[in-house]
Amino acid sequence: MTPLDSPLLALTGGYWDGKFHALTGATITVRDPASYEAIATLPRMGAEHATLAVAAAVRALAAGPPDLERRKRALIAVADAHDANCDELARIITAENGKPLAEAIGEVRYAAGFYRDAVRHVDGLAPRTLAEEPRGCTWRVHARPAGVAALITPFNFPLAMLAKKLSAAIAAGCPVVVKPAEKTPLSAIALFGLLHRLELPPGTLNLVYGDAPAIGRVLCEHPAVRVISFTGSTAVGQWLAAACAPHMKRLSLELGGNAPFVVFADADLDHAAEQLVANKFRCSGQTCVCTNRVLVEASVAEAFVARVAKRVAALTLGAGAAVGTDVGPLIDRAAFDKVSRHVSDAVERGARVVVGGVTASGGDGVGAFFPPTVLSGVTAEALASQEETFGPLIAVGTFSGEAEGIARADDTAYGLAAYVFSADLARLERVAQALHFGHVGLNTATGPTPEAPFGGMRMSGVGREGGEQGVHEYVEWQTTPIGLP
Ligand code: NAP
Repeated sequence: MTPLDSPLLALTGGYWDGKFHALTGATITVRDPASYEAIATLPRMGAEHATLAVAAAVRALAAGPPDLERRKRALIAVADAHDANCDELARIITAENGKPLAEAIGEVRYAAGFYRDAVRHVDGLAPRTLAEEPRGCTWRVHARPAGVAALITPFNFPLAMLAKKLSAAIAAGCPVVVKPAEKTPLSAIALFGLLHRLELPPGTLNLVYGDAPAIGRVLCEHPAVRVISFTGSTAVGQWLAAACAPHMKRLSLELGGNAPFVVFADADLDHAAEQLVANKFRCSGQTCVCTNRVLVEASVAEAFVARVAKRVAALTLGAGAAVGTDVGPLIDRAAFDKVSRHVSDAVERGARVVVGGVTASGGDGVGAFFPPTVLSGVTAEALASQEETFGPLIAVGTFSGEAEGIARADDTAYGLAAYVFSADLARLERVAQALHFGHVGLNTATGPTPEAPFGGMRMSGVGREGGEQGVHEYVEWQTTPIGLP
């Protein structure tokens, strides 16, 4: 084993009651996706540890929420800690997730942005008195912390997905139990090492990972946990929703997508191609807002595919830590196999391989490097159109006319991100209004930003992260009418 040597990982284990707990017993192994080498061995925590973490959070809750100024200072301190340790945090992200270092640096900055932006929304949580005095009362409105919040995050943005949740929870005054993905817990551990130095009241921040179903059950069933904020697959989101139903918890679920990228014939094809490539290969195609289905108006399909192919052929596949890498490995062999299946299935249904294609996986000791791939002539029935590929595959199909473009784009049970390109602004507005996606990029394929609410419609989830709306996911509004003398 080659352990990941980092000053930010001097202390590991679980974290509750204001300190790290080195535990003995079962372990999990974290691997570098570029080499499959083990880079850390950590305790595999379960129900017992989750219960201790929740109990610590309950004690913090009972001590009362920090005042608004203290929350703002804590948020700024967390953002500053990201900035001051940006390079080291990025190195850890790349080591466990595989994404290129430049992307990892971008993730740390993006994460810091959520803490900074949340500061802007804290003052809005001060109690206020209504100007009206209905029913013979003075009416006060309070933003109470909703309770202990459980924050469950996926592997693809080990720091940023946590930042979206943790920034809002701190702003709202909720103690948290964080549960990162088993494949990428090191970024969260490193962050907790930094948070530890902030000397927040013990129990405010707690961390467990390991046996996800056992931990999940405790978080869903413990009466003090009032918010479950989860980012991950729709299947696990459904499981959590069902487990929480008897306990009537507040759920914020950021789930999977099947993002269409619609190019009308009047679009600037060079701009659209550039945006598509920038959007599609981030984290090797493993982001929830990555384009999944490219739909091009038939009359410009060939010209558009040629522009995309030229750019994709120039991308360099390699280890995230290597200089010059544009696209890193997939998280594991199962992810590699899924992309292979989608490519083979599309080709069997008549698609043409324009760039890349199915390749042998690396074998033992080598990461799951799937080549950036472009397919044209992909049908609506292909797996690549039906399911989230979560890999470096651009699957291009065609349509004719606005009505068919909208129908094809909206033909999915998911509703997270969509992108539309056209020179006609009125058309862009019409199409956005007709689509059932929480995030619709018009002549841009940018993803979310801390300042704006982001989340899914339909099977892509409930709730929003970012902006004022993200903070309100952790707030219970309480009204106190006070009888006038
Ligand atoms: P996943 O398998 O659903 O895992 C996500 C998290 O849930 C991990 O921490 C996992 O822990 C945990 N988990 C699994 N089963 C659980 C249970 N029974 N109780 C409690 N926690 C449980 O998802 P993933 O493969 O890591 O992430 C990819 C998916 O996330 C994609 O579908 C992607 O679209 C989606 N995503 C959505 C957004 C968004 O904003 N909507 C953003 C990013 C990703 P273990 O790892 O320990 O099993």
